[in-house]
Amino acid sequence: MDTQIVTQHQDGLADLHRIFDVQHGVTRGGLAPTLQERKSRLEKLRQMLVANEAAFVAAISSDFGNRSADETRMLEIGLVLNGIRCARKGLARWMRPEKRHVDVAFQPAKAWVRHEPLGVVGIISPWNYPLFLSLGPLVDVIAAGNRAMIKPSELTPRFSDLLARTIADTFSEDEIRVVTGGVEVAQAFSELPFDHLVFTGSTGVGRKVMLAAAANLTPVTLELGGKSPAIVCDDVDVAKVAKSVAFGKFLNAGQTCIAPDYALVPSSKVEAFGKAVIAAVGKFYPTLAGNGDYTSIISDRHYSRLVGAVDEARAAGATVLSARDDGVAAARKVAPTVVIGAPENGVLMREEIFGPVLPVIGYDSLDEALAFINRRDRPLALYAFSHQRETLEKIVDGAISGGVTLNGTLLHAAQDGMAFGGVGPSGIGGYHGRDGFIRFSHARSVLKIGFINVFEKLGPPWGGLARTVSKILARRR
Ligand code: NAD
Repeated sequence: MDTQIVTQHQDGLADLHRIFDVQHGVTRGGLAPTLQERKSRLEKLRQMLVANEAAFVAAISSDFGNRSADETRMLEIGLVLNGIRCARKGLARWMRPEKRHVDVAFQPAKAWVRHEPLGVVGIISPWNYPLFLSLGPLVDVIAAGNRAMIKPSELTPRFSDLLARTIADTFSEDEIRVVTGGVEVAQAFSELPFDHLVFTGSTGVGRKVMLAAAANLTPVTLELGGKSPAIVCDDVDVAKVAKSVAFGKFLNAGQTCIAPDYALVPSSKVEAFGKAVIAAVGKFYPTLAGNGDYTSIISDRHYSRLVGAVDEARAAGATVLSARDDGVAAARKVAPTVVIGAPENGVLMREEIFGPVLPVIGYDSLDEALAFINRRDRPLALYAFSHQRETLEKIVDGAISGGVTLNGTLLHAAQDGMAFGGVGPSGIGGYHGRDGFIRFSHARSVLKIGFINVFEKLGPPWGGLARTVSKILARRR
């Protein structure tokens, strides 16, 4: 490192601590933001997004090489705007203290739970949906009355700089700030004693983030990755389902945490399904290289990783079906690809694919398909296609995952009415809508004693009355 880089790096780290101290100070010195203050912050965020929509779309596309403008508008900006709408609508109700039951033994008394801000929340986000995964958590964090610091990914530098500027223009330093930088900044960020840390990214980095947070006893929400399967049952129309799986897989060129990672298909239909996926792709993306709808791979490293994984499977005897377009490599695009017979010990079936490559695995019974999933880490998402309710129930009961969409893909993650999150190695904790408000609040229990405190009347000194009351309480059913 030369002197200039060292100085910049130190400046970045000093900034990090300074901003944290400013935000931490206001959360320890004042009252929680009122309903109106929270709504006004959400409104400012909405206006900032709407005013800068075109700039965000352009920055993200330029970071990727090409990122579909419609996908950025729909799957990033649109989803954040939905989240804001939902929070503004529900917030007054969510913030209301909740009355709780008080056992007769403790009467007369009243009990309630207040959902209060935690304080300063850190948000570390990945590159694949850089706006949605920075501002999605932020909406719930603001709704819960917190201050926030965001560290976006170094792989989307144009977007990250734009976000830092627009947030700084919209919010004061003691409300929200974005800090940019590489892995060293991310590491230092995760070591700050936040009141809560939200991390979205890979399972490997998630482990490091949780370790760093543990030193401060900072609670974490970890939104991680994994291999999300799609089970295609025997009773469905293969061509129709292939289209649905292809939609979820090739959006953002497969660089979606909940994209179907691989498909489990009845053995007799594997080839027909693979061909139907490629046929569907031909309709979705008639060309690839110059097609603005088909997104590039984020970096050369990820491009080589994907091409290498397919080459490895091909060398091991797998059949590779691929949409053809000669110019894709120059646009850092990987053509939509189906791999039949990928070896279980190869990269494609060992690691999260995170690109437009779909292994199709044959199965002979539903139990075998479920056992295949259950031999692996619990996935972030699970997809199942069947017309039979009992079959879908058997699948949902038989393989645990973070979330599920039945007879479709992805869309459970777009719901504000229920939490989105993983389980085990695919994540800890969920958010979105009211569940996000609860996740980023402290549920504070309050008990108000009535005109007499019976327990204080019993002793000490403890005597016969206390013993009689103990016996009565112990015998209660
Ligand atoms: P990543 O784990 O490499 O990086 C995520 C963020 O962590 C980046 O901002 C990076 O700067 C930061 N980081 C890197 N090293 C760090 C460290 N040692 N300490 C603290 N922070 C560090 O992930 P990525 O490549 O950006 O994203 C892809 C992964 O994210 C995939 O595994 C995908 O499944 C997952 N993902 C999950 C969700 C979800 O909601 N569950 C959503 C999108 C992506």
